[in-house]
Amino acid sequence: METYPWWSEKHNKLADEAKKFADENIPRGEEILWTREFPSDLLKKAAERGWFGASIPEEQGGTDMGATGCCIISEELSRVCFALAGAYITTIIGGTEQLLRFGNDEQRKRWLPRIAKGELLGAICISEPVVGSDAAGIETTAKREGDEYVINGKKKFIINTGVADIYCLYAKTSNRPQDITKHNHLSAFITEKDTPGFTVERINELSGWFGLPNGYLDFNEVRVPVKNRIGAEGEGWKILVNGLNFERNLFAAGMLGPMREATRYAVGHAQRRIQFGQPIIEFQVNQFKIADMIARLRTARLLVYHAAHLLDMGEKAVLEASTAKLFTSEAYRELVSDAVQVMGGDGWTRFYPVESFLRDAKVNEMAAGTSEVMRTVIYRLGLRTMAEELRMPHRRVHEKLKVPISTAKSPTTEISEKKILQMLAEDYRVNPDLYMSRKDIEERLAGISDEQLDKLLTSLEAKGLAFLYKGKRGNIALAKATYKGLRQAKPLEYYKWFPEWIRE
Ligand SMILES: Cc1cc2nc3c(=O)[nH]c(=O)nc-3n(C[C@H](O)[C@H](O)[C@H](O)COP(=O)(O)OP(=O)(O)OC[C@H]3O[C@@H](n4cnc5c(N)ncnc54)[C@H](O)[C@@H]3O)c2cc1C
Repeated sequence: METYPWWSEKHNKLADEAKKFADENIPRGEEILWTREFPSDLLKKAAERGWFGASIPEEQGGTDMGATGCCIISEELSRVCFALAGAYITTIIGGTEQLLRFGNDEQRKRWLPRIAKGELLGAICISEPVVGSDAAGIETTAKREGDEYVINGKKKFIINTGVADIYCLYAKTSNRPQDITKHNHLSAFITEKDTPGFTVERINELSGWFGLPNGYLDFNEVRVPVKNRIGAEGEGWKILVNGLNFERNLFAAGMLGPMREATRYAVGHAQRRIQFGQPIIEFQVNQFKIADMIARLRTARLLVYHAAHLLDMGEKAVLEASTAKLFTSEAYRELVSDAVQVMGGDGWTRFYPVESFLRDAKVNEMAAGTSEVMRTVIYRLGLRTMAEELRMPHRRVHEKLKVPISTAKSPTTEISEKKILQMLAEDYRVNPDLYMSRKDIEERLAGISDEQLDKLLTSLEAKGLAFLYKGKRGNIALAKATYKGLRQAKPLEYYKWFPEWIRE
């Protein structure tokens, strides 16, 4: 496994050990693609190496390898088979993570050392038959009765269904509209297997991820002790969203293994398949596909391990983890599609594992948050955090060249309707189709207050000299001179512009 310069010695050593483990166990992983067995034997081997404790501090029985360590393990386990990586990742983000961040001392002592030893597998129960992307709409209820909560409802698509020992479950503990509005209506619980009333309703027949049980759970009057609630009542949403970045990153790490394997198969196949008298790798079209595969793999790995590093530094890494998940899931699908194409018909037979990656890849654009949800997060947060660098440059007509070019800001101290109208007229020359932003106007009118600017712009609008666009809160956000405004601000000559060659 290729290491990164910022990894610690501990991580480098782990990477070697995990790669060796994967190399040795890939044959067993391939068996599972045929038998569809749950990989208990492989999980046991991973547990013996202490890998279930990778995110857990040493004093709680773990190895304290952080997000980077968990990603290294997930990447190599996913080379063996996704059932192994999926069961591992789900345990790390289904109970372990929530207990580490929000559990009390008693809960941590009760569960973490056993998770670290690999004695307990976890599951994360958010989705329901009626709840997918809109996770806040959870309908499963938890009603407090004395020292217990009574849970009723259903969960769907749950990884590790039936094989998990602890299920990290989110349920509704309040129906009050004010709690729902503030997202204080959910709570998180650990529900242990074999709790009366808690049953597996069905196992999904999935298109991929063979060997990893996924199903529906039914909760019928399930009594869970209050001491199993993680965090305070009503903190469920906070706990849920807090774990999402790590979850997204870890799932992305679990795609890197098959991406590496698919690339390996495509290259090996192309080097050894002779057509038209030469290995098909000699055809540039195949070389380009392989180059794209390598580029996708290397970019995805960088995104994953960069986000993991930020998480280890205590940052939330929302943008980075969401970007890693979005990019890697799409890159994985494209990479495997190319790998199959390079391998020709062989790639689509079940006699090579690449076919299984083709089926597995698609679901990553849905599970652990869909690509549309990732894009929504990236768009919203990206625009907020990158607001300064995404601001459109201020542009003016160059004195000599007479063409619009960017310019440093030059505030004016004259604050008047006339000045604003001239500013809008100048903006028309450089951005004829666009409105001028309130911020741009404010910055150019040194010291103007919000009230002053509102008054002047509203007055211009009332006189038919400016169009105003109001934002959702009714605030003036954008302004533009009307045709009448343009005429009043400057003579027609001011707006005219012709290329030199027209004059000639
Ligand atoms: C194999 C597998 C394993 C899973 N494992 C687990 C698990 O262990 N635990 C768990 O709790 N859940 C699990 N899930 C559920 C997973 O998180 C959901 O599938 C996912 O959140 C999407 O929900 P949905 O499938 O109901 O799609 P929907 O939410 O119904 O969405 C359908 C489509 O509409 C789009 N869409 C929805 N809302 C919007 C919006 N506001 N804007 C734009 N587009 C939108 C979606 O992006 C998608 O393309 C798993 C799912 C799968 C398939």
